[in-house]
Amino acid sequence: MNLPPLKEAFIIKEPQDEPAGIYIHIPFCLSKCSYCDFFSITDLSFKGEFLNALSREIILSPGKHLKFDSLYIGGGTPSILPPESIAEIIDKTAAAFNLDSNAEITMEANPATLNRENLKQFKMAGINRLTLGVQSFDCKNLKFLGRLHSGKEGAYAVEIARKCDFENINIDLIYGIPGQTEKMWLKDLQQGVNLEPTHLSCYMLTFEPGTEMGKRLQKKDFRPMPESRICNLMNLTTSFVASKGYTRYEISNYALGTSCSDYRSRHNRKYWSSVPYIGLGPSAHSFIEPVRYKNISSVKEYIKSLKREELPVEGKELLNKNQRMTEEILLGLRETNGFNLLNFNQKFKTDFLKKFHDPIKTLEKLKFIQTNKNRCKLTNQGILYHNSIAAMLTEFE
Ligand code: SF4
Repeated sequence: MNLPPLKEAFIIKEPQDEPAGIYIHIPFCLSKCSYCDFFSITDLSFKGEFLNALSREIILSPGKHLKFDSLYIGGGTPSILPPESIAEIIDKTAAAFNLDSNAEITMEANPATLNRENLKQFKMAGINRLTLGVQSFDCKNLKFLGRLHSGKEGAYAVEIARKCDFENINIDLIYGIPGQTEKMWLKDLQQGVNLEPTHLSCYMLTFEPGTEMGKRLQKKDFRPMPESRICNLMNLTTSFVASKGYTRYEISNYALGTSCSDYRSRHNRKYWSSVPYIGLGPSAHSFIEPVRYKNISSVKEYIKSLKREELPVEGKELLNKNQRMTEEILLGLRETNGFNLLNFNQKFKTDFLKKFHDPIKTLEKLKFIQTNKNRCKLTNQGILYHNSIAAMLTEFE
């Protein structure tokens, strides 16, 4: 029998072995960035009532039978809250759910909200992974994105976070900004790696309908970057950060070390491998197979609902077999390790390689996909066409 190398056998865990994750959405921002379509409001007067409502939701939430090993506090801008509130949220969550004592506890933070004092206290509150929305070090880019901080402030936030003993730090950067040249993007990446984060998330700028930037695009206020140049920047990112010791493990995510690095986001990997997660807070999603839930995207309605002792769920969808297979393929192909075919076939009583024999052969010839009897994954070239390839592999009768 051919056994996989011990390291790989140990590290590649499959969904059924994985503890679940908890996501908490803090729906407040100091101002709205022009590209952002995450749910958040800038009226901070609801903070107190929101925190009371969140405490109720933590108690009423389903999922108490599950084991959790990650808590992700995102938003919005969680770092807008005082550290005592973050400490209270973590304590209440840990008391209500079966949260591992070594859980990864991530908080998203905007550099404009950080200082040495609150960072120290966020650390003491239990945050052990910080993800900083730096986005760019170029002031012109930051202005275009509607960010409140300068490039220098972004870098300073990373430096003081390190001084406050945060070891595990992610930096978010954005590429594909109109007018951005390869040289400018490489400069951003270089400045990012100079700060020695353990993780980099490099997102392509998208123009979502309803955002300020989406509206400006409709009015033809600027010309978006052509797709071919965006693909160049994506390839450049992978090779540049690889030369600095970071490995791509998902379309937009790079961790310091090898493809099995412990600096990969434990929480976000659950989304890509169909592990259950509970979402709390306005607009948060939950997934306890085969059901997906969505909370109300309104702070006022969220508060009202919890005052009535009702869960603030606005939508509940029971996924059928084809929908579940589609999700597993679509999300599984986001990770550079791809997805496990043995589990997939066993779970859905199917034979993936047989079912998609023809498109797989075509994609293999194009060097877009790699398969063996255990796994199916995209190549670096294939990742550029993730959506189209996933569509070819999810046409179920
Ligand atoms: S990008 Fe972050 S800081 Fe900006 S509006 Fe969206 S959630 Fe708020």
